[in-house]
Amino acid sequence: MDMRIKNRVAVVTGGSSGIGLAAVSALLEEGARVAFCGRSKERLLEAAAVLEKKFSQERLLYSVCDVLDREQIAEFRRQTIDRFGGVDILVNNAGRARFSTFADTDDEAWRDELHLKFFSIIYPTRAFLDSLEKSDQAAIVCVNSLLAVQPEPHMVATSAARAGVLSLSYSLAKEFAPKGIRVNSILLGTISSGQWKERYQKSGDVEESFDDWMQKLAVEKKIPLGRFGVPAEAASAIVYLASPLSSYTTGATLDVSGGFARHI
Ligand code: NDP
Repeated sequence: MDMRIKNRVAVVTGGSSGIGLAAVSALLEEGARVAFCGRSKERLLEAAAVLEKKFSQERLLYSVCDVLDREQIAEFRRQTIDRFGGVDILVNNAGRARFSTFADTDDEAWRDELHLKFFSIIYPTRAFLDSLEKSDQAAIVCVNSLLAVQPEPHMVATSAARAGVLSLSYSLAKEFAPKGIRVNSILLGTISSGQWKERYQKSGDVEESFDDWMQKLAVEKKIPLGRFGVPAEAASAIVYLASPLSSYTTGATLDVSGGFARHI
């Protein structure tokens, strides 16, 4: 199926690992030109090396950029516009989860989590907004979590922040609709990624393989489809919402949780 994003320009924050990297790859697969960022230069170079085996360097730009740093975002924007001339798609993906209950989340942890979740959307959206306004098929996709609508007490700050960010994305969808910019979110369950690999390494279950460890967790969590998702499955949903195939959809969410949602 033609996703109709050939030669369009996509920006993916946090594109050097996991879901972001899979989204970069899927967008390139569809013929888009893609700029992506991350904080670690090493991780960016590793990701670029993998991508450049398959895709032309001409369609790829990567940049060291912390999305929480306004100056670095401004520089990333400058490089993207200099190279590609405009932007049609923004994927706000950068981030990570925080495991903590109310009892063990102190003020600083609350501030950090709320800051990360909100400003990882606010800064890139603000920076790329004027370019998106000039596009005739502009789309913003926010990578969110099922926690936004189904909070978990062991991830209290992340859940609260995710709900706030979902509210923000609805407001952006309404405010940007007259500008022709659609804003949608994916709500993820558990997707095997860099974050989960780190958790596996910290778990100390060294006798089990990563795959077996995840499978055991999927059973414990009673995920209806019986397994974790893979980054490519999240990326497919991102590409759909970024493409004109979803041209009459804005302010919406797409569930990518293997049936883990408990609401109707
Ligand atoms: P990964 O750790 O595999 O990837 C995270 C990516 O974001 C990396 O490229 C990382 O690079 C980058 N990143 C993190 N913080 C920043 C920052 N401040 N500025 C720029 N880049 C940053 O994790 P996932 O693929 O799992 O996570 C992607 C998104 O999906 C996150 O927002 C996460 O919270 C969300 N999510 C994931 C779920 C899952 O089960 N995997 C479930 C629900 C939501 P670097 O560290 O070098 O900056």
